[in-house]
Amino acid sequence: MKMLLGGKGANLAEMTNIGLPVPPGFTITTEMCTYFRLHGGRYPAGFRKNVLAALRRVEQRTKKRFGDSKKPLLVSVRSGAPASMPGMMDTILNLGLNDATVKGLIAATGNERFAYDSYRRLVQMYGDVVLGLKPASENDRDPFELIIERKKSERGIRSDTELTADDLRDLVRLFQSEIRGRLGVEFPQDPHDQLWGAIDAVFRSWMNERAIAYRKLNQIPEHWGTAVNVQAMVFGNMGDNSGTGVAFTRNPATGENHFYGEFLMNAQGEDVVAGIRTPIDISTMVELFPKNYNQLLKVRSKLERHYRDMQDFEFTIEQGKLYMLQTRNGKRTGIAALRIAVEMVGEKLIKPAQAVTRVEPEQLNQLLRPVFDSEEKERALREGRLLAKGLNAGPGAATGKAVFSASEAEEWKRRGDQVILVRMETSPEDIKGMDAAEGILTARGGMTSHAALVARQMGKVCIAGCGALEIDYNAHQMRVNGLVVKQGDYLSIDGTTGEVILGRLQTKPSDIVRALVTKELDPDASPVVGMFRKLMEWADRYRTLKVRTNADQPDQSEVAIAFGAEGIGLCRTEHMFFGGDRIDAVREMILAEDQAGRRRALDKLLPMQREDFAGIFRVMKERPVTIRTLDPPLHEFLPHEEREIRDLADKIGKPVERVTQRIRQLKEFNPMLGNRGCRLGIVFPEITEMQARAIFEAACQVRRERIDVHLEVMIPLVGFVTELRVQERIVRRVAEEVFHQSGIRVPYLVGTMIELPRAAVTADEIGGVAEFFSFGTNDLTQTTLGLSRDDAGSFLPLYLEHGILERDPFQTIDMRGVGALMKLAVEKGRSVKAGLKIGICGEHGGDPKSVEFCSELGVDYVSCSPYRVPIARLAAAQAALKRRSARKPAGKKS
Ligand code: PEP
Ligand code: MG
Repeated sequence: MKMLLGGKGANLAEMTNIGLPVPPGFTITTEMCTYFRLHGGRYPAGFRKNVLAALRRVEQRTKKRFGDSKKPLLVSVRSGAPASMPGMMDTILNLGLNDATVKGLIAATGNERFAYDSYRRLVQMYGDVVLGLKPASENDRDPFELIIERKKSERGIRSDTELTADDLRDLVRLFQSEIRGRLGVEFPQDPHDQLWGAIDAVFRSWMNERAIAYRKLNQIPEHWGTAVNVQAMVFGNMGDNSGTGVAFTRNPATGENHFYGEFLMNAQGEDVVAGIRTPIDISTMVELFPKNYNQLLKVRSKLERHYRDMQDFEFTIEQGKLYMLQTRNGKRTGIAALRIAVEMVGEKLIKPAQAVTRVEPEQLNQLLRPVFDSEEKERALREGRLLAKGLNAGPGAATGKAVFSASEAEEWKRRGDQVILVRMETSPEDIKGMDAAEGILTARGGMTSHAALVARQMGKVCIAGCGALEIDYNAHQMRVNGLVVKQGDYLSIDGTTGEVILGRLQTKPSDIVRALVTKELDPDASPVVGMFRKLMEWADRYRTLKVRTNADQPDQSEVAIAFGAEGIGLCRTEHMFFGGDRIDAVREMILAEDQAGRRRALDKLLPMQREDFAGIFRVMKERPVTIRTLDPPLHEFLPHEEREIRDLADKIGKPVERVTQRIRQLKEFNPMLGNRGCRLGIVFPEITEMQARAIFEAACQVRRERIDVHLEVMIPLVGFVTELRVQERIVRRVAEEVFHQSGIRVPYLVGTMIELPRAAVTADEIGGVAEFFSFGTNDLTQTTLGLSRDDAGSFLPLYLEHGILERDPFQTIDMRGVGALMKLAVEKGRSVKAGLKIGICGEHGGDPKSVEFCSELGVDYVSCSPYRVPIARLAAAQAALKRRSARKPAGKKS
């Protein structure tokens, strides 16, 4: 339904069905948007007639006529895509008003001020959205708002509500002449022209720049299109018994189960969403509108019982009568998503399986996100660096340099700066700058303003409605309580408390990290930790994929276990060669003139590697550990600066020239495709030998301590089965030697990475030797796409911008290309060895979409960096649940 009617249209229909008061209207489907886009802005035959027939029915229901000068029907025309895109597309209200019908509205309502206010809103919106009269640049003000401001200062008043009927009538005239003067066109007086202008504009807004940018960020396909909702207007600006509001059935920032929202008396919806006026808390309606407030409480519980999810809804009270304008599943922060999901299970509104689908895996990042170090923050507050307080619209801690425009935010970020975007209020045009910023700070607007909604959705730290900021866009600075903050000055914002602090504050780990990783916090003392554990426990109940981690050190392994890792999927042994004096031994090995010299150097490395492996085995215990033999090209270990080369030559007692010459010899034009991976172990078998010895000696040593060891030795960058065979032989020979010497046997597997197209294509041959496969999707992407992992940064962003690629293939598996090779490898591998163990250890192992793909492919596990383990667990559970519901016959619920 949503695909056809859009989210808003489908929910309006559904609200009507459950008996909520919805103004009459009709929805033009998303299919028409696609038709309009593909046919150069034309509609199919008969369409106009259908719209007019539907309009007739609205006239009958409301007993008003569109364009009637006595009892005019006014309508709104709103966008509504299948996925929520807050504020990205256009909306026009009060259509049907003109110089004649405005008189009818006055006669029907007896309220001249209201009628002219509605008319001036229509001319303003129509002028902006349909006719395109907008601010000339980012630093310019809205031309209509400037006219209103001039009017207010002429009249010596401050608030919009003080404008009289005469003022508003005058504004209508001024707006119309501004349109005429600036654009050379007339504001259309014919209501049908207005209606079609608005419908066209909403369809066109699907392709505006900000909607395209938003779709890209949120991976919403262009072919979905938007629906258009045409609906009878109801008015929140018909006096002090009217108003409008936005409410959430639970708190969208914290998840707390209380009615949450904002209300503006005598106003229309866009005043709340645009953040132009700061609204009052919804609870104050108890006194002002007791009857409507009680109705709203009933609506709240009806909506939650029907949708079984937190709803974000808009309502209007027109002269004491409540109307529902829309509802949708409310956007929420990570913490709120967690709390709502877990508490709704407790309230028996949903089952654990549904709770698992209610938190987006990436949202868990927010729970693991740092907060300000409390001591440092207290010091800052003592020092009087608290500049102001605003609304805590998006939790978390962010610090960065202040910038005052979205384009600067983007530019500074590109230069490597962290920035806080400071605006009077944000508008959909600011979306890219908001994405670039660490945090967003606005002077105006409430918790449901554009800035607040979008920031929460992006998981950005945000403070909104910070009235103390006097921003001067032209001077690139702001004044706060007498202090001047210039562009580039550091600001720290606490989106959990709403505090704006001058200077840069250190951040510190979240409760979950402190409870589970650093263990400074009693997990039972923190409700967030309790909820996190519960959700993860449910996720584990449903997922079929195992989740391992990529870790090269015992401490990393510990973190990963704390986050639920079930093994190590990749230990990159080369990472153990850096640091301390090991690098010297490695360099000595590389620079050795012959095998004997190389073996001497390797003997020095052996005990170090053995200790590393033993440390990891001790932490991992019974969990499987995949250790990969050396992968990178040798010259990566050698110095390149002249001074460093001299130092090294000195240390190992070789002439500088010899060292320089060896470095030159080892240098490769394309090291990624050069002597790395198993090729190194084939050219220098003694390296593989040393590593195998270190691995098995460590395993035997730890086994002797009565600790279980589940060892998997992995050979990288294999393209030919013989490469694997040659390396496997060395590993098995050394294993036998060590077992014989130590009198202990440790079970182990020898497997390979599938990270070259040839390996995937010949996976049946390779599977005849390998005891497991692990997809190295970093290299498999690089080699399948012919895109260098290291150099793609210079053109990949452009590819994404131009839509040549939908997603960064190094983040999300290119399913049609790389994915097809993976599928082939799984089939071929298992055709020779049924049940062959297969995993993935490229960066994609922690990407939710790729995890879903791997789950469909039937691999056994994904492996990712420690902090992404919870994300992968949740993504794996969601993938399993999705498959389960796809298998269920339609109509059955879990
Ligand atoms: C890979 O190529 O995906 C992989 C895990 O190996 P590395 O990133 O070390 O090349
Ligand atoms: Mg690789």
